[in-house]
Amino acid sequence: MVRFVVYLFLSIFVISIARALIRAVLQGFASLFQTAQSSPARQQPHPPSMPLTGELKRDPVCGTYTVEAHAIRQTINGETLYFCSSRCRDEYLAASRR
Ligand SMILES: [Zn+2]
Repeated sequence: MVRFVVYLFLSIFVISIARALIRAVLQGFASLFQTAQSSPARQQPHPPSMPLTGELKRDPVCGTYTVEAHAIRQTINGETLYFCSSRCRDEYLAASRR
C-alpha cells in the first residue's frame, strides 16, 4: 500500500514536470513563431497601408506624389494644393505671385 502511494506521488511529480516541460516547449515554439511572423508582419503593413493613410496628392511644383496626411496643404484662391515640402510650397507661392 505504501508502495502504491509512493508510485502515485511519483507519477504526479513526473506528470507535473512533463506538463511544465511541454508548456515551456510550447511557449518556446509560440515565441519562435511570433518572432518569425512579427518581422515580416511589421514590414508588410507599411506599403499596403500607405494608400490607406490618405489619398495621394501630386505636388504641382516637382510632381512628387505625397500622401495627403503627410503633404503640406495650402489653399490658394480657394483651391487646396498639396506639396511634398515647404520648399515646393514656397516655390509655388513665389511663382504664383509673379
Ligand atoms: Zn515637391
